[in-house]
Amino acid sequence: MTQSPQSAQISYNTSLKQLENAADIIKLDPAAYELLRHPLRELHVTMPVKMDNGSTKIFHGFRVQHNDARGPNKGGIRFHPDETIDTVRALASWMTWKTSVMDIPLGGGKGGVICNPKNMSLGELERLSRAYIRQLGNFIGPQKDIPAPDVYTTPQIMAWIADEYSIMHGHNQFGVITGKPLALGGSAGRGDATARGGIYCVREAAETIDLNLAGARAAIQGYGNAGSYAHKLAVELLGMKVIAVSDSSGSIYNPDGFLYEALMAHKKKSGSVTGFPEAAAISDKELLELDVAVLFPAALDSVITKTNAPDIRAKIIAELANGPTTPEADTILYKKGVYIIPDLLCNAGGVTVSYFEMVQNAYGYYWEEKEVQQRLEKKMKTAFLAVQQKSKAYNVNNRLAAYIVAVERVAEAMKLRGWY
Ligand code: GLU
Repeated sequence: MTQSPQSAQISYNTSLKQLENAADIIKLDPAAYELLRHPLRELHVTMPVKMDNGSTKIFHGFRVQHNDARGPNKGGIRFHPDETIDTVRALASWMTWKTSVMDIPLGGGKGGVICNPKNMSLGELERLSRAYIRQLGNFIGPQKDIPAPDVYTTPQIMAWIADEYSIMHGHNQFGVITGKPLALGGSAGRGDATARGGIYCVREAAETIDLNLAGARAAIQGYGNAGSYAHKLAVELLGMKVIAVSDSSGSIYNPDGFLYEALMAHKKKSGSVTGFPEAAAISDKELLELDVAVLFPAALDSVITKTNAPDIRAKIIAELANGPTTPEADTILYKKGVYIIPDLLCNAGGVTVSYFEMVQNAYGYYWEEKEVQQRLEKKMKTAFLAVQQKSKAYNVNNRLAAYIVAVERVAEAMKLRGWY
């Protein structure tokens, strides 16, 4: 993944403000509002892990279940040195809204472990992943709370977790987690799902604002799973030219556009996109401010701020990361007429195909990649339309519209269940 560990943190207060704005507009019942302001449950865990040098290191982690009115909690696990309970809380609530915007029968959760995977061996990572899942114990489960990959966690980590959980329960329980490798009940099409969902949204957005994408320029901030697949698919599906990309080591630029295969091969070999031949080094700030049709923030949160927002020239911002735009930047960009596809919608392809993975695990019957992609496309288009219609109905920006769609659905489920 591709972010500076120093980036400003997402705060739960910001997410509460977004909820408050939506609640005001739809005149949400006060009890429902109070319920949604708090996670239903959270667990703090401490884990001893044997390190390769013979020492034992103590790690801390969390799992937050924000709301499961519409179905089991769902959301990724982050391994990050700056992880905090506050960030995990915010991200868990965003999963509630994300699954609701997508209208998939799931709630919202998120997990985090404070660690720096970049400084850990594979063996240490495996022992930490297994220790974390043992500590979560029955807090999670295929009908209760289903984790998945997120920042710095991979299909291999999902495989260890599926294995550990299966051992704990005496039989295979692969449905406890999604984003698994194909050989362990993963879904075809999960790998590029986050980027693919975002690309489908970009296509819809361009149509809405009458922007021709063929041959148009794109810049990608972050070259992890979402960012690198966004490069591949922006070229393949939209005919765009990706003229700048970045990762935690720096940003590169080539006005003629980068070839995905060549850049990926370079990154695999050297560990970074920087130093790619026939590319100029630019600053991360310059990348964000390039004159492009589409800017994809695809790393960590809070990279588009009130400081750089006035200089952003992209026509569309496609938020593949969670929380890349601060609320102040949001207001500035909205006034400037930039079309923002909010994270709740733009990066929801990942959790949507995770949901497909759960369905296939429960069914014991697996779909071909084409079928997954077709189903994803349909889901993304429907959600995009729902957000667009709300935005028109209430004359609000896309982000607030996405919140309104989401909060209304969760509130309806809570009402029907008799929670208020
Ligand atoms: N971590 C991803 C997200 O933030 C995917 C979650 C999932 O697949 O459950 O949406």
